[in-house]
Amino acid sequence: MDKKSILKTLKTPCYVIDEESLIKNLKILKNVEDRTGCHILLAQKAFSSYCAYPLISQYLSGTTASGIFEARLANEEMSGRQIHVFSPAYKDEDMPELLEICDHIVFNSFSQWKHFRAMIPEGCKTEFGLRINPEYSEIETDIYNPCFQYSRLGITLENFEENELKGISGLHFHTMCEQGADTLERTLKIVEEKFGKYLYDMKWLNFGGGHHITKPGYDVEKLISLIEHIKKKYDIQVYLEPGEAVAIDAGFLVTTVLDVTKNGMNLAIVDTSAACHMPDVLEMPYRPFIIDSGEPGVLPYTYRLGGPTCLAGDIIGDYSFEKPLSVGDRLIFTDMAMYSIVKNNTFNGMPLPDIYMLHEDGTTELIKEFGYSDFKCRL
Ligand SMILES: *Cc1c(COP(=O)(O)O)cnc(C)c1O
Repeated sequence: MDKKSILKTLKTPCYVIDEESLIKNLKILKNVEDRTGCHILLAQKAFSSYCAYPLISQYLSGTTASGIFEARLANEEMSGRQIHVFSPAYKDEDMPELLEICDHIVFNSFSQWKHFRAMIPEGCKTEFGLRINPEYSEIETDIYNPCFQYSRLGITLENFEENELKGISGLHFHTMCEQGADTLERTLKIVEEKFGKYLYDMKWLNFGGGHHITKPGYDVEKLISLIEHIKKKYDIQVYLEPGEAVAIDAGFLVTTVLDVTKNGMNLAIVDTSAACHMPDVLEMPYRPFIIDSGEPGVLPYTYRLGGPTCLAGDIIGDYSFEKPLSVGDRLIFTDMAMYSIVKNNTFNGMPLPDIYMLHEDGTTELIKEFGYSDFKCRL
């Protein structure tokens, strides 16, 4: 059976992690690590389906976390690999555990660094870094731009306290989103101009995430030369922590048509919700791709697809199909592994989609099944 036929046999709604595509991404990333000696970490914020962590750990150097829970997850499910953490602000009660399990802890301000350095025990192996804000970003959407005006993320040069660097091993910047090596090149130029003088005394520079390394057309050779340039010039290690690039196009969301109606155009209601199961469709916003569909009007039958919640704006988008949709038809959304499973919710009492793994050999494995208790236990 082909992938599509296999997916259509599953109970919906469900996410399906595509092992074959995940491996394809991981091989591209491992090649960058092997050729440059840099370390690439999974940003768990984008994808934390830990059923895939044993696989990911065969290719990447470890994970990065946004706080105590992701760090703990990495420690439990990918132990033995590196664990890094960055949070805009840490809490006192979490620091002892972070100090125990993390290889790198990155602070967002000198005040956080000065507060927590007193807690570092004698002989602690953890290395400490500071997130800088180079005040340069090519991201147009403010909600995803860590360099927009008055951003709380990272230390600007004006606020950089160069006399407080004792105990700091590295710098970290994260200013990109779905961008290419040319953006990285321009960003690094600014980072070097502003903060380069501090890098000579550091052990590492972390380039953050937002690198679209596994997207077709990404200039991997340029990335490699940029990593080599930084490593050589400052004699430091380079870390990258992509989320999206690890899990891009490595999963599906399978849904069933529940009803077909009309109001000025053809409408279809499916058993998956934009608001609950793919919130980035509304937040980014973007139009997810459906297998065997076209842009509205391209194929003979066009429908506006919406979810079964009461939210008027719970609209996935307009799609055209070869044949009219009927109740019971399965539709397959692509690129649903990243920033979907980690962001879903049970608003409106919506059930959470089950999670399957589609193995390389074509077999499917039910990883998680959700039900009423998952809705009730959060309320
Ligand atoms: C979001 C984030 C990442 C991962 O970003 P992607 O766009 O998914 O690659 C990495 N590091 C930090 C600090 C982040 O906030």
